[in-house]
Amino acid sequence: MRAAVIKSPGEVAVETVDDPTPASGEVVVEVAACGLCGTDLHILEGEFAPSLPVIPGHEFAGQVVARDANTLGVSEGDRVAVDPSLYCHQCHYCRIGHNNLCQRWGAIGVTVSGGAAQYVAVPAANCVRLPDHIETADATLIEPLSCAVRGYDVLRSQLGSHVLIYGAGTMGLMMLELAKRVGAVSVDLVDVNPDRLVVARQLGSSNAVTSADQLERPFGWELVVDATGNERAIQDGLGRVAPAGTFLQFGWPPTRPEPPSSPTRSTTRRSPSPARWPCYTAMRGPPNCSPRGYSTRGCSSPTGCHWRGTQKRSTRSGRGRD
Ligand SMILES: [Zn+2]
Ligand SMILES: [Zn+2]
Repeated sequence: MRAAVIKSPGEVAVETVDDPTPASGEVVVEVAACGLCGTDLHILEGEFAPSLPVIPGHEFAGQVVARDANTLGVSEGDRVAVDPSLYCHQCHYCRIGHNNLCQRWGAIGVTVSGGAAQYVAVPAANCVRLPDHIETADATLIEPLSCAVRGYDVLRSQLGSHVLIYGAGTMGLMMLELAKRVGAVSVDLVDVNPDRLVVARQLGSSNAVTSADQLERPFGWELVVDATGNERAIQDGLGRVAPAGTFLQFGWPPTRPEPPSSPTRSTTRRSPSPARWPCYTAMRGPPNCSPRGYSTRGCSSPTGCHWRGTQKRSTRSGRGRD
């Protein structure tokens, strides 16, 4: 089969490699689509990977084409999304339910061969069969969406919150969709790249700006989400959390940022892992906002997303949604 192989830091090549065969409890998935995320770039840059070479790709979906006789619940021909996480289920943290802290953690596409290939062998237990209304390629987004859903799981988000999100990439846009669904009264997006703000506006952000200075909310936002991992964005966002508000560190920062020292602010910081599977409830959502809405093509609905949130005009910059 053909596969993308990261051979050494900075070196990736598409090569012919051996077809995978299912080990005990595994199935082989013919990959329909595979996402690229920041983790893949970190692996390519040599910043994050136990060993090279490796076939990357932990966001993928496809069809089961072979299986070990010991597998249960998954049959050849099934269309599946794949949870890439590999836990030992034996260490202290696995036993207390914090699998994301597994001392022998691994992941498909990180520590073992991933989905940037025609075929990949995965544990049957990691497969989630797709309902008919989800196209196989679209299901590639279930892995990142599951991370976003888990991020909202830990927030104790309240109805009527004003939400500020840093980063209008895939994760920031998913956070936008989730904020709308859990009753936010407004959702503002900040991204230094103005081109990315176009999709945020199509998906119904209240404001989409290149700097939070363009927004007028003197008491801050009840919920601030960083979906960039950028230290400057994180520090900026920490200073904009309303008293008794919550800051969600969803991006992966290179170093741990410090919260603001103001005694008048009580800020809760939470880490979102582990992802929750499956998450079809979130994906069903409003009928006119399919998972395609997260792509660079924008919302596929001819009428656009039917949620518009609170329309707000920035008094400081004169810019705002109309
Ligand atoms: Zn990822
Ligand atoms: Zn473990």
